[in-house]
Amino acid sequence: MARVTAYVAQLVLLCSFLVAAASAQKVGMDPVPTPPVASPNASAKSFDVNAAVEFYLAKMPPAERARSNSYFEGGYWLLLWDFLSTVIAMWALLKFRWSTRMRGLAERITRFRPLQTALYWVQFIIVTSLITFPLSVYEGYFREHKYGLLNQSFGPWLREQAIALVVSVLLGGILVMLLFGIVRSLGKNWWVWGSVISILFLMFVSLIAPVYIFPLFNTYTKLQDSRIKDPILSMARANGIPATDVYEFDASRQSNRVSANVSGFGKTQRISLNDNLLNRCTLPEIETTMGHEMGHYVLNHATKGIFMYGVVVVFGFAFLNWFINFALARWGEGWGVRGITDVAVLPLATVGLSIYFLLMTPVNNSITRTMEFEADMYGLNAARQPDGEANVDLMLGEYRKLDPGPLEEFIFFDHPSGRTRITAAMRWKAENPDTSSAEEMARPLFNSH
Ligand SMILES: [Zn+2]
Repeated sequence: MARVTAYVAQLVLLCSFLVAAASAQKVGMDPVPTPPVASPNASAKSFDVNAAVEFYLAKMPPAERARSNSYFEGGYWLLLWDFLSTVIAMWALLKFRWSTRMRGLAERITRFRPLQTALYWVQFIIVTSLITFPLSVYEGYFREHKYGLLNQSFGPWLREQAIALVVSVLLGGILVMLLFGIVRSLGKNWWVWGSVISILFLMFVSLIAPVYIFPLFNTYTKLQDSRIKDPILSMARANGIPATDVYEFDASRQSNRVSANVSGFGKTQRISLNDNLLNRCTLPEIETTMGHEMGHYVLNHATKGIFMYGVVVVFGFAFLNWFINFALARWGEGWGVRGITDVAVLPLATVGLSIYFLLMTPVNNSITRTMEFEADMYGLNAARQPDGEANVDLMLGEYRKLDPGPLEEFIFFDHPSGRTRITAAMRWKAENPDTSSAEEMARPLFNSH
């Protein structure tokens, strides 16, 4: 999904955390013969889980693993660079009084306060996007190309950024108008209702995203390929999911990554598999991925995620309230910001949210990672394809570090690592030896580098 710069816009799009509880994303694999490997004997009672895990991990060549580690570890640093670039941009807006000038312009155009807020927001998001544009281009375009993870040329990529910007202008504008309305009417207790409104807004965005936002970037159709349609829909029926809730979309427009996700909320909730998954994976691999997504669906992860994330949001607004008052008392006059009800305070609020969400990285990642692991368990039981699952987990390793340390996984991983997932699959297989697949075990996954 396209990258948007401002952190307030990120709050709006944080629901991507919920709506795109994406699971299996992985890059290409073409079958070529590999030398025979001592494969674990699944039918024996003495099935060695650790040996089976090592067998799978060894399927990825060292050069491939080094590349993936480099890509993923670079992402840790990007958290810091994104944070610093945002703080510097916001500081400039305050220090050089661009923020108060944007507010002044909005006040000259209209006397209606909510509209002033909206006009300020439009200027704010455009200026912020321009300031952070070089970093966004590096991060979202050049770096992705460097690691072979993006199919798009610059024109189409930039066009999607522009669409994302328009979406943030509209949705962020609505949220900011609501929040400043609350600040102005409720005074110092604004943060309680502010967080409630933000959570409701998050639900609203989740609800409309599959119908009005995602189709701006990809084309969604009902599942078509009959080769996989029948077993997939059979599995869906068995798990109480209506066939009308299974879609496919043309992710190959953007990249070779294979992915699937559950999106939407309430009536708009649906499972979407992308065309790369359908074209590049074997049926057992598609089935286990589908089983994982059904897990998100049946276990109501969208709703649970909203509530867990809601707690984070409430604490975030409490912190934000304290942070804004603290900073305004010291530097507010120098910046020309009149107070917390003045929309020109927005850069300061963005800094506060940036600090909070940076510190909350392990918490937010652990919320999603825990649900992802639950979906893995559900998928193993639903699809009964532990070897297909291990292959899918391994393919994810093309862009997600396969074998991190425990602390590293806790802090930075929003999905379990390859080693964790393969271990779970092999543990499951040890108890269900009849599900072993020699074909999946022998299937080579990495030959293209
Ligand atoms: Zn998932």
